[in-house]
Amino acid sequence: MTRKLTALAVAIATIGAMVAPVRANVPASVLTSAKIEHRGPTLELHFGFSGPAPRLDLSTHGSEIWIALGHTRIAIPPRPLFGSETAPISSVRAIQSDTNSRIVVEVIGKSDYAIARLRDRNEIVLRVATTGADPNIAAPIIVHNSPRRPAPSVARPVVFAAAENPRPVSLAQPVAAPAPVVLNEDNRQAGHFVMIDPGHGGYDPGTESSAGVMEKDLALQIATRLKAALEARGIRAELTRSTDVFISLAERTRIANSAGADLFVSIHINSSPNTDTTGIEVYYLNNTTDRATIRLARMENGGADGYGTSNDSNLNYILTDLRQNYKAIEASSLARMIDAQTVADLDSGLGLNVNALGAKMGPFYVLVGAHMPAVLVECGFMSNATEAARLASPQYQDVLAGATATAVAHYFNGDLAAGDL
Ligand SMILES: [Zn+2]
Repeated sequence: MTRKLTALAVAIATIGAMVAPVRANVPASVLTSAKIEHRGPTLELHFGFSGPAPRLDLSTHGSEIWIALGHTRIAIPPRPLFGSETAPISSVRAIQSDTNSRIVVEVIGKSDYAIARLRDRNEIVLRVATTGADPNIAAPIIVHNSPRRPAPSVARPVVFAAAENPRPVSLAQPVAAPAPVVLNEDNRQAGHFVMIDPGHGGYDPGTESSAGVMEKDLALQIATRLKAALEARGIRAELTRSTDVFISLAERTRIANSAGADLFVSIHINSSPNTDTTGIEVYYLNNTTDRATIRLARMENGGADGYGTSNDSNLNYILTDLRQNYKAIEASSLARMIDAQTVADLDSGLGLNVNALGAKMGPFYVLVGAHMPAVLVECGFMSNATEAARLASPQYQDVLAGATATAVAHYFNGDLAAGDL
C-alpha cells in the first residue's frame, strides 16, 4: 500500500492550481498541539492548528501513515508524543519542510485507520486500531464532524412494524432532517457526478421479503432518494434506471462510463438463509475467497439471463482489470465511510441499532466494468421481516439515503478517509 489516495491527491492538486497565484500571501497553518486519547480499543490522535486545519493529503507507506500538510509550520517537537505512544502506534513524528511538512504515524501489525479534518475545531483527528478490533472505527469521527442534530421529537426507540406485520410504517412525527454536508465551493466547481444504479428491475425482481416486497422496488425508491440527497449537497446525480425495467449489468456500467461519472453507487437489498441476520454492508470490487461473499456475488450476478456472464474464467479475467484494481483503495475508503455513516445516522436519527457489517471486497460483476471508483451498498436484509419492513418505510429510506450522500460528500471534499495497513 504505497499508492496515494488518488481522490485526495487530485483534490489537492486542483486546489493547489486554484490558489497558486496568491499562495505567497496566504499565511501558513501552524500545527500547535498533538495529543493522544484512548477510546476503547482505538487510539485517537488529535492534531491542533492555530486556525482552520489544512487540507490533508493522506498516503500509506508500508507500516506508516503520512499526513502531508503542505503549507504548514510545525510548532511542536519532532516527537510530540514521545513516551506516550502505545500499540498499535509505535511512533509519531512531525516533520517540518518548506513545501512538504508532514506527520508520520508508524503502526505495529495490521491496523485500521480513519482520519478526518474537523474545520469547526481546527483539528485533524486520526483513529488507529488493530485490524478488526473496532469494526466501526470511522463512525465517531464522522458524527463529530457534522454537528449532532437535535434528538428527534418522537420517543426513542422508534418502533417499526413487528415481524408478523411487515408493512411500511410511518413515524408519529417527522424526524429532523440531517444537516447536509455541503460541498465547498472548490469541489462544487469541479462538478462531481455520481451514477446511481438501482439493482435488478423488470423481470428480475432480486430478493423478496416474506411479505412479497421486492428488492427491485426498494432499490429504486432508495436510489431515487439518494439522487435527491446528493443534489441537495451540490453533487450531480443520475440513475441507470428510473423505472421498473431490466438492464443488464454490463449496460449499467456502460451508462456510467459513457456519461463520465466520477463515482458508481449500486443499491441492493441483501438476503441470507439465516433470517436473524441484519445490517448494512458495503462492497467494493476485488477478488475474494470469503464464502459468504462469493455466495452473495453469485446471487447478485446470476439472477437472470443476459445478466452479464456467470462464466468463472471470464469473470476472473475481467477481475484482473488494472483500472479497477487501481480504484480499489478509494472505493474501499468510501465503502467504510458509507457503512459507518449510515449506521451512525440511523442511530442518531431514528434511535435504531443497525448492525455495521463493514466494508468488504466482493467480485461483483456490476462493479467490474466501471472505469471509476465503484461501490455496492447492501442496504439491509430482505430475509429478516423486521428489517424488510424498515427498508420499506420512507423515513428509514430518507435517513439511509441522506447518510450515504453525506459520506459521498466527505469523499469528494477529501476531508475524511478510512483504510487499513
Ligand atoms: Zn441485489
